Amino acid sequence: MSVSNLRCKECCAEYELGASYFCEQCFGPLEVTYDFSGLEAEETRRRIQAGSGGIWRYSDFLPFDHQAGDPLEPGMTPLIRADRLAARIGTDAEIWIKNDAANPTHSFKDRVVAVAIAKALELGYDTVACASTGNLANAVAAHAAAAGLDSYVFVPSDLEEQKLLATDIYGTNLVGVRGNYDDVNRLCTQLADERPWAFVNVNLRPYYAEGSKTLAYETVEQLGWQLPDRVVSPIASGSLFTKIARGFEEWIEVGLVAGSLPTFNGAQAAGCSPVATAFADGSSVCRPQKPKTIAKSLAIGDPADGPYAVELARRTGGAVDSVDDEEIRAGIRLLAETTGIFTETAGGVTIGVLRKLAERGELRSGEKVVAYITGEGLKTLDANRDSFSLTEIDPDPASFESRFGQEVAV
Ligand SMILES: *Cc1c(COP(=O)(O)O)cnc(C)c1O
Ligand SMILES: [Zn+2]
Repeated sequence: MSVSNLRCKECCAEYELGASYFCEQCFGPLEVTYDFSGLEAEETRRRIQAGSGGIWRYSDFLPFDHQAGDPLEPGMTPLIRADRLAARIGTDAEIWIKNDAANPTHSFKDRVVAVAIAKALELGYDTVACASTGNLANAVAAHAAAAGLDSYVFVPSDLEEQKLLATDIYGTNLVGVRGNYDDVNRLCTQLADERPWAFVNVNLRPYYAEGSKTLAYETVEQLGWQLPDRVVSPIASGSLFTKIARGFEEWIEVGLVAGSLPTFNGAQAAGCSPVATAFADGSSVCRPQKPKTIAKSLAIGDPADGPYAVELARRTGGAVDSVDDEEIRAGIRLLAETTGIFTETAGGVTIGVLRKLAERGELRSGEKVVAYITGEGLKTLDANRDSFSLTEIDPDPASFESRFGQEVAV
């Protein structure tokens, strides 16, 4: 198989595949490395196409010796062409929406959690845990239930009620921490030292992160084995954003797809935009911020992969932009009205930035743009409460006509 080692992203020191996540020499983050020299493109493609209907079809590119069994397999979510959305934002680029709300717990987090929990089982853990901005909590609780593992999920206590309810239902230990995500994450890092638990985004983070590559693989397959020209993706810690790029790079390397890396546009909420701010300042240092935004799933003030996200946007000729709460709400409505897809606030951020790019004239005519919709609108219903409208009538035709127009002659 092609998985080889863990390697430090900073100094390249190598480590065995275990539950470690930072470099003992320089404290840099670790990531999984592979040796793809044994993969022949045509044969690999055939193996993928004969594989399962979700992310495990990409087992050659995931950190296991054999394919994991998975009762809640995520992936192969719809990629749809969004011409009415393109028209509304005034672009003649080809706009595609990858709807990752169509996963088992309705966000892209099912991908990363499926990989992390498969690794936790392989390493023999019986309890999994996470520090979450909401969607990760949903996914860890559900996938732990499916695998028969105990789970502890730590979230900021002021999270959206829908996300709390949709997590607790799986019988997890739901812990609301009085603090923001960065406080929750610090606590979990401390607990990970003390407890024999698999924290999916702390000590299993290198494996967790691999799950996001599957979004890139699916995109290539669904575009008919082609690369998009541009990607618009939300950024919280920067893991998703940078791993989509890694997925494309791997397939270019193996020869499964021809071309070069797409342009990468990152999307953040103005109320929590350390990566967009660093990009605008021409810096790669993401100075920590205190989040204040309705996009709670993206509210990470101190993003672990922020510098790599800035570097990726620069290297590909892209950018990292931010939108305010009003633009986020408008983005949610715009997507719903033009595609029938109801996304959560993170998707509003993505569509808000897509619209900005169109207004700035940065989308080229005919280029294929894929916007990643990472979560479900029903989880953040309150975001659009202020613009909600219901026309109430009495149960008779005259009442209807008096509100909706002239009576029709019969
Ligand atoms: C977690 C999350 C993201 C991005 O997360 P990263 O930490 O940048 O990988 C994007 N959208 C939604 C809805 C999320 O829950
Ligand atoms: Zn190192």
